[in-house]
Amino acid sequence: MRILSGLQPSGRLHIGNFFGMMEPALKLQHEGDAYYFIADYHSLTSVHDGKALRSYVRELAIDFLACGLDPEKCVFFRQSDVPEHCELSWILSTITPMGLLERCHSYKDKIANGIKPSHGLFAYPVLMAADILIYDSDVVPVGKDQKQHVEVTRDIAIKMNETFGEGLFKLPQPRIQEATAVVPGLDGQKMSKSYDNTIPLFEEPGPLKKKIMGIKTDSTPVEAPKAVEGSSILALYKLVASQSDYDAMVADHLNGGVGYGDFKKRLLQGVTDYFAPFRARRDEIVADKGYVDKVLAEGAEKARAVARKTLGRVRDAVGLG
Ligand code: ATP
Ligand code: MG
Repeated sequence: MRILSGLQPSGRLHIGNFFGMMEPALKLQHEGDAYYFIADYHSLTSVHDGKALRSYVRELAIDFLACGLDPEKCVFFRQSDVPEHCELSWILSTITPMGLLERCHSYKDKIANGIKPSHGLFAYPVLMAADILIYDSDVVPVGKDQKQHVEVTRDIAIKMNETFGEGLFKLPQPRIQEATAVVPGLDGQKMSKSYDNTIPLFEEPGPLKKKIMGIKTDSTPVEAPKAVEGSSILALYKLVASQSDYDAMVADHLNGGVGYGDFKKRLLQGVTDYFAPFRARRDEIVADKGYVDKVLAEGAEKARAVARKTLGRVRDAVGLG
């Protein structure tokens, strides 16, 4: 089984990325042949600062390794080290119907959140299809926001197979962990790097406290019972707390008598404790100069060999070169 997934270096990794994609991907690295990549071509749709992008790439690599990505078990690489993704993307784009892209929610959501519409942002799902198809991927662990893009990938693969020969591409399946499919951000929307509503995985204690204490709540008085449904604090607490601590917080919501400030303090403690072991590992990786570059260089070489082979097959089929 070939597994593939990517993360954009468009800001610091957050707990939505962790529970939605990284945790399932980390489990899958032990079950198959996993390819995980840093999607820097994709990030050019929202980051237009070369220095910042380079630094985000590095931080992302460190964070993912700190969380348990094992470069001996999977191929970990930077997308732009494998330019074959872009050539395949162009080929796929020539058979991708406009209507298929016009229906994509992610594009509309990003525009609504102030990201400038560009051709790259619109065509993002085609590059993502190339990312997936170039490795003959079977399974793509993603958060719910990416489900539609994996479906678009399947549609593109089916169209390519019909046009240029059955068996040219495998049809991939999204793998979505329902309990963590959409992690809410500080403002109640989907937590997203580009929406400035995140709890970064390795936030410093001061800013972490400020962010969590700043989560939007309603004005229910301390004594009154509080809504369980739709509470971002509870949804986030569920991810990091034990079942009994979570049940206690639900009971305190229902009974009243406890204020939001208290709930936020418990959430702060929960997040701090959950990521403490990863933080220690992160410090070790940062101290090991050259380690990250070595991992990414080795990953690039392995990924590129596979990508070249697939691209050769596609160029043959469509009549290029
Ligand atoms: P951007 O705002 O730049 O799109 P992002 O925070 O949405 O960044 P991506 O790099 O686009 O992160 O997504 C990486 C992976 O994390 C994808 O599989 C995506 O589905 C998942 N993911 C992102 N945000 C969430 C979230 N809030 N809840 C669950 N999964 C998420
Ligand atoms: Mg995203």
